[in-house]
Formats: sequence, structure tokens, C-alpha cells
Amino acid sequence: MAAMQKPRKPEEMYTELVRWARDQTLLASCSELLSWDEETYMPRGGVAHRGNQLALIAGLLHERITSPRIGDLLAGLEASDLVRDPASPEAVNVRQIRRLYDRKTKVPRDLLQEIVRTTAFAQQEWGAAYHDADFARFRPWLEKLVTLRRKEAQCHAAGRPLYDALLDIYEAGACSADVTALFGALRPEVASLANEISAARRKPKAGIFRRDFPVDRQRVFGEAVATEVGFDFKRGRIDTTIHPFVASIGPGDCRIATRYAADNFGMGFFAILHEVGHALYEQGLDPEQYGTPMGEPASLGVHESQSRLWENTVGRSLAFWRHFFPLAREVFHETLHDVSLEDFHFAANAVAPGHNRSQADEVTYNLHVLVRFELESAMIAGDLAPADLPGAWNEACARCLGIVPPDDREGCLQDGHWGSGMFGYFPTYTLGNIYAAQLFAKASEEVGDLDGAFTRGEFAGLVEWLRDKVHRHGQRYRAGELIERATGAPPSHRPLIEQLRRKYGELYGL
Ligand code: ZN
Repeated sequence: MAAMQKPRKPEEMYTELVRWARDQTLLASCSELLSWDEETYMPRGGVAHRGNQLALIAGLLHERITSPRIGDLLAGLEASDLVRDPASPEAVNVRQIRRLYDRKTKVPRDLLQEIVRTTAFAQQEWGAAYHDADFARFRPWLEKLVTLRRKEAQCHAAGRPLYDALLDIYEAGACSADVTALFGALRPEVASLANEISAARRKPKAGIFRRDFPVDRQRVFGEAVATEVGFDFKRGRIDTTIHPFVASIGPGDCRIATRYAADNFGMGFFAILHEVGHALYEQGLDPEQYGTPMGEPASLGVHESQSRLWENTVGRSLAFWRHFFPLAREVFHETLHDVSLEDFHFAANAVAPGHNRSQADEVTYNLHVLVRFELESAMIAGDLAPADLPGAWNEACARCLGIVPPDDREGCLQDGHWGSGMFGYFPTYTLGNIYAAQLFAKASEEVGDLDGAFTRGEFAGLVEWLRDKVHRHGQRYRAGELIERATGAPPSHRPLIEQLRRKYGELYGL
């Protein structure tokens, strides 16, 4: 068998590793397609069979990544000159595949299996607990998951805080000390802006967005906007689902799934723009590098920066609506004929503290994330017992958002992340907002008058800039370095605060 021979030259080993990585990605893309189908068109009767298909592929992927042959190839390549330049595709691919290999092989098999098994039950119990607003039902599962994830983190921590080992899964290279500093600087600034907005006399007519917007017309409008900003329908499509997402099937096939409600224009429209941002990133990756880390997105935070940039920075700007509002008035004539551009734009930027993260506005959203970051890092550090989560949650919400949820369904049970065993994921949302503002500020400088371009319906200049500075690099740089190279400065909360202050200061007359 070819796999048993030991190639002598690093170039040969590298070719073998890349061939393996491409096959691994192809196999994973089969499961991506099956999952997309499950979330969009599959009849209910297909659930069990689909579960078997996905489990089989997951097993094959696991077997392939933990093969000792991969360990040998990585060790051989790491000792060679081929990876001397850390930014070369060879070095990047070896480094990133090593990361995946270690993640799967440093943890004892029993522990990995127990995590998978426990997570499957915990997800179900979280669902039931959420439905009944009954934290007691979820508590034992949360305790188990925290214990298991702490054990897993111990295998990777190597002297670092346990939370860092989990954060690293989603945001390679990030550490909790940096994130704590960044979020610590952001928190008081966002909180005081939110307070000023609450006290402002000027208020938007937010009810405009809750009028009747027929779903079929929302689809037409959303697809028209997606096309104009650069989503390529020859290499993608948009379908309907319950929780919006993007499925990246392969080069030339990137699928958005979204949802609509006739009485909530904002929910449907901004979800499309958000997912279009993710999709533009996927469609902007280098197809030549497909199947290797050089052809993969840099991190979840960077991915989220692309979605937030289009959803919030571009999609809630006055210039954007100067261009698209006439079309909106045409498509939704009965609904919008008596609405002015200014009122519509103000309604798109209504700010009000609420209990729910996923429905939060652009300003208070970050406060929701900071609450979760604080609580999950305390749970993983062992400073907060999962049993005490509801009390700690309510206290943190009172402190950060000024409101206390009426029950645990609106409170600590509202997100499914912890029930799915995902600790360390939440920070990537706010990191995304921070990166987005910083990238947009730099793009405005380098591309020139973006407001003027948006008003004329020209979005290609911004897309090209993002392609050049972010998309085409794949995983060549860690998120922090990518942002620094693109903008000339390490990640900072300042551009985000400046951007929010400028827009909301004008709208609310602060
Ligand atoms: Zn997203």
C-alpha cells in the first residue's frame, strides 16, 4: 500500500499531505450538503436515515484525521526546510493541519466519545428545559458538560488558562487575557452610549418595520439586494429555513438559508444581509487552495466580521438606503408609501435593551456577549458553579443591561451554545463587530468615498478591498495579525465605538 511507504523528500510528503487534506475536505463537504438538505428540504421521515449518514461520515473523518500516518507526515515536514517561511502556503497548511491533528489525538478516545454522547443528550434536555423555562432540568447536563470540557481543555492547556484552550477552537491564537482587556475597554463605552440613547428625546418610529411585508416580496427584495452587493447566484442560492446559516458546499456552490416573517421586515432582511456577508467571504476564498487551510476562512471572529460589516455597517447606513429605499418603496408600495427615507433609516437603527441576544440591536448586542463571556469563562475556570448560573446571569444582566429577565427561558437558557458544549464561542461575535468596524474604517480611507459609492449602488470597491485584505489569505495569518496587516493596527475597540457614536449620535441627537 502506498500509504505504508515512507516518502523521502519533503516535497513528496507535502504532496501526500495536501492530497489527504483535499479528500478530507471533500468528504466533509458531503456532510455539509446533507446537513443543508436536512435544514431546508428533507421530509421529517428522513431524520433517522440522515443521522446514520452523517454519523458514518463523521466516523470516517475522525479515523482519517487521527491516522498515525498524518502524525508522521507532519513531524517529517515540520523538521524540513519546506516550512521555513511561516507565511508560505506549505508552512500555513502544515501548521493548521497540526492544530487539527493535535485537537483530535491529544484527548483520550474515551473522553472524546463521552463528550459526543453527553452533548447529544444535553442538547435535547436543553431544548426541553428551554421550552418549560426549567433550569433544574438542564442543570445536571450543564454540570457534566463543564466537567468534560474542562478535562478536554486540560489536554491542550499546556500551562495556559483552561478557557484559552477552548477559545482557541473557534478563534485560533486568541487568549482570554487579550479578549478580557479588549472587552473591558469596550464595556463602559457601549454601556454609556446605550444609556444616552435610552435617555434621548428623539425616538425612531420602530413600528414601521412591524407593518405588513408579504413574504414572497421580501424574498424578491432580499435577492435583488444580495445580487447588487455582489452575491453570485451562479455560484450560490438562497433557501428558507428556521435558523439562518450559510452552507459552503465547495468552490462554486455556497448556499444561504434564511427565514422570513410578514410582520418583521428587519428580522428577514438583515438576516439575509448577514448571511450574504458570510457568503461573500466564502465566495472570495482562493479556489486554487480549496481543500487546504490556505483556502479556508481565518477564524469565526473574522467570519463574523464579514457578516456584521454587511449587516450593520453597510446595511444600516443612510447611504445604503438612499440607494435601496426607492426599490423598497416599489416592492412594498402599500406598506411604505407614506414613509420617508429618514424615518425608514432611523427605524433600521432602533436601539432598546431587551432580554434576547439574537434579537438585540447593534449597540446592546455586545453587552449580551460580554455577559456570556464573563459567565462561561468563570464556569470553565471553576469560579462559578453551573448550579449558580441563573442567579449570576440575572445579576450580570442587571449590571450590564439594566434589566433582569422574567424567567430562565428569557435568561440563561435562551441560547443553545452551552447545551451543545460550546464554551469559548460567544466572544467571536463581539470580536467580529470589533474587526468589522476596524476593517471598514480602513476601507473608507483606502477605497475612498464609500458613502458616495453606496448611494450610487456601487459595492464592488468594498468587496474587492475585502477580497484583497481578508478573503484571499485564507488561514495564512491568525485573526489578530490579519487585522493588523489589513488596517495597520492591532485589534482595538476604538473604531467600533467611534462608528457607533457617529451614527447614533446623529440619529438620536446626542
Ligand atoms: Zn454570523
